[in-house]
Amino acid sequence: MKVLVINCGSSSLKYQVLDMINETLLAKGLVERIGIEGSFLTHEKIGMDKYKVEEPMANHKDAISHVLKALTDKEHGVIDSMDEIGAVGHRVVHAGEKYASSVLITDDVIAALTECIDLAPLHNPPNLLGISACQELMPNTPMVGVFDTAFHQTMPPEAYIYAIPYEYYEKYKIRRYGFHGTSHKYVAERAADILGVNIEDLKIITCHLGNGASVTAIKRGKSIDTSMGFTPLEGLVMGTRSGDIDPAIVSYIREKENLPYGEATNILNKKSGVLGISGVSSDFRDLEEAVAQGNERAALALKVFAHKVKFYIGAYIAIMNGVDAIVFTAGVGENAINMRDIICSELGNLGIKLDLVKNKVRGKETIISRDDSKVKVLLIPTNEELMIARDTYNIVKALNNK
Ligand code: AMP
Repeated sequence: MKVLVINCGSSSLKYQVLDMINETLLAKGLVERIGIEGSFLTHEKIGMDKYKVEEPMANHKDAISHVLKALTDKEHGVIDSMDEIGAVGHRVVHAGEKYASSVLITDDVIAALTECIDLAPLHNPPNLLGISACQELMPNTPMVGVFDTAFHQTMPPEAYIYAIPYEYYEKYKIRRYGFHGTSHKYVAERAADILGVNIEDLKIITCHLGNGASVTAIKRGKSIDTSMGFTPLEGLVMGTRSGDIDPAIVSYIREKENLPYGEATNILNKKSGVLGISGVSSDFRDLEEAVAQGNERAALALKVFAHKVKFYIGAYIAIMNGVDAIVFTAGVGENAINMRDIICSELGNLGIKLDLVKNKVRGKETIISRDDSKVKVLLIPTNEELMIARDTYNIVKALNNK
């Protein structure tokens, strides 16, 4: 079965087609500037040069019709007709407390995800637009929703309840949800495979360090705590997001700076993190370059980032009463050699010893701890699309076998 994976943002759409018989990637691409002048699609049939389509795309339905055209193109396509797509897997950010795993999309599922719009106003609306556009264009193809929050639904109440009046949880569902669940689950499962140990017998800390970043404590294959919270703003210092701060800072800055409504949250989401500290960039490559030129605030930003990752690693070791493996993934985790080095430095007393030579690697699945390190440290490139395709395939295959 061939599975189309769709990940819709407000003005962009990423896609992949995988053949699930042997989990091979056949094609992938990206549509940018949906609904904005200058829309274009970049499509890549694996093994061939990229191909660009510049056409007006007023909405997500237009974008998906161009994706389907590219996929069936004589030269750049990978299927003869749309009927070859056996299922579509949609990434959806927020499923609230409703779903703890991926599900076949039905009217009830759409209603539940629509209810979650309040919890993820920037993400769920474009995710839902992608689903309805695909349903219109491929009415007979089963669709599956794969949720960023689902993996973390196994957290115990002591990890997800905030110490604010309980009625806010009851009335408004304010609690920790956690995000990046598909990525944390994927790399944890890969870590168990690579180590040749049943995931049921492992305590793993997964560090998804990208522009958005989160750390998860995974015991017996289940998320038991994670650093992102009610929204993806909590936890680690990120590219432009503050992560944890004293909540009193918000009203204090609002008053001091006389900020209009919503501006404080905007600052914490878009102007903070390593960008806010350094004043240079949210991109770790730019920061490393600035540090090399003697920029002290860029150096400080990297130190604060590393400190916070270390802080969560320590916390999760305590929460799990130990750790067997620590995994680094996503843009920074996979590529920033120095950052992994700083995070793992001086953790020898906790049994964590990074191998500084093995650590000199980027984007490759490998063990980077010393042979005598009690805790294994791994670099595992994330693959959320493969995880979405797997869930989609398994759900639809079970449906077809009924
Ligand atoms: P992601 O959100 O997972 O796509 O990660 C994107 C971030 O990864 C970028 O903003 C960079 O900060 C970081 N990144 C990518 N490549 C490198 C690299 N070679 N060295 C350091 N950081 C990198």
